[in-house]
Amino acid sequence: MVLILDGKSHAERMLAEVRAGVERRAALGLRPPCLAVVLVGEDPASQVYVRGKIAACAGTGIRSVEHRIAAGTQEQLEALVAELNLDPGVDGILVQLPLPGGLDAKHLLRGIDPAKDVDGLHPVNQGLLLGGQRGLRPCTPSACISMLKAYGISLKGKRAVVLGRSEIVGKPISLMLLEEHATVTIAHSRTEDLPGLCRQADLLVAAVGRPGLVEGSWIKPGAVVVDVGINRVDDLELGRRIFQADPRKLETLLAKGSVLCGDVRFGEASAVAGAITPVPGGVGPLTIAGLMANTLQACEARLHVRALPGHGVGVWGDGE
Ligand code: NAD
Repeated sequence: MVLILDGKSHAERMLAEVRAGVERRAALGLRPPCLAVVLVGEDPASQVYVRGKIAACAGTGIRSVEHRIAAGTQEQLEALVAELNLDPGVDGILVQLPLPGGLDAKHLLRGIDPAKDVDGLHPVNQGLLLGGQRGLRPCTPSACISMLKAYGISLKGKRAVVLGRSEIVGKPISLMLLEEHATVTIAHSRTEDLPGLCRQADLLVAAVGRPGLVEGSWIKPGAVVVDVGINRVDDLELGRRIFQADPRKLETLLAKGSVLCGDVRFGEASAVAGAITPVPGGVGPLTIAGLMANTLQACEARLHVRALPGHGVGVWGDGE
């Protein structure tokens, strides 16, 4: 019987820990952490994500400041980031991606103070991760690792295959799995014999953005499957192909005209896997919880309140 990895419950536990951290600060007379969220343009999905982040701040006691910019130039955005960097009342800066066309996200993110880079995308934080040192780490991968640990899933010595090499998920989760002593292979769009490689994986992480790419026959019996992909399917022909073992998904697609799914064919994979994350309700809720944890961490590291348990800045050993 496959174990369903419940990201929603784990996210709730993570949020409760953040709330407790904020309350501990209040008991010491310290101000709450503050997250500045920058939303540029009118992208409806980005607006939904930002609403979720602001709501999570409210739920954990983190103060949020929203900067909505209908249309901004690169210079205006860089000036805003510079202002937020200097603002002592702001602990975390989140620029909602993607930015509208014509804006250079990479350059903008490089302008964020690494100590306030709660998305963990600044080269300084990427370097700290590469060096196995504590810094601000990308929210989705760090929360995935936290969930696997909470379920008592051992990664040591295991063969992990990560599908996708993005800076936000694929590369950082590969480094984090390596840190947990897994043997990691990173696969991508040019990898040959993806099914054969996946079949060797004790842990398979799919972060590709291709609905139903991973078939049940690609899964090693008993493997742990973490499906990071979030895809909206509205193509009935595709749905009929990838939802053969997911009749409920197909019903939703037929009834509503679209349905959310992951990169893994859930029904097929869960007949073979030992544990698996569903979509929705798996990795999705973990991202915001990771963001709240990073905002608290940024606040405590910046303000040098390192005496509080669990939030000191430290260096991990190489674990050899
Ligand atoms: P991305 O587009 O930046 O990267 C996709 C990666 O997949 C690339 O490295 C590419 O080489 C690889 N790839 C593309 N086609 C492939 C193929 N056929 N076979 C193997 N590899 C292939 O995407 P991303 O930002 O890393 O996001 C990946 C997915 O995860 C998306 O569906 C995204 O919506 C989702 N996501 C979810 C969360 C969450 O909170 N759950 C967070 C971030 C991303």
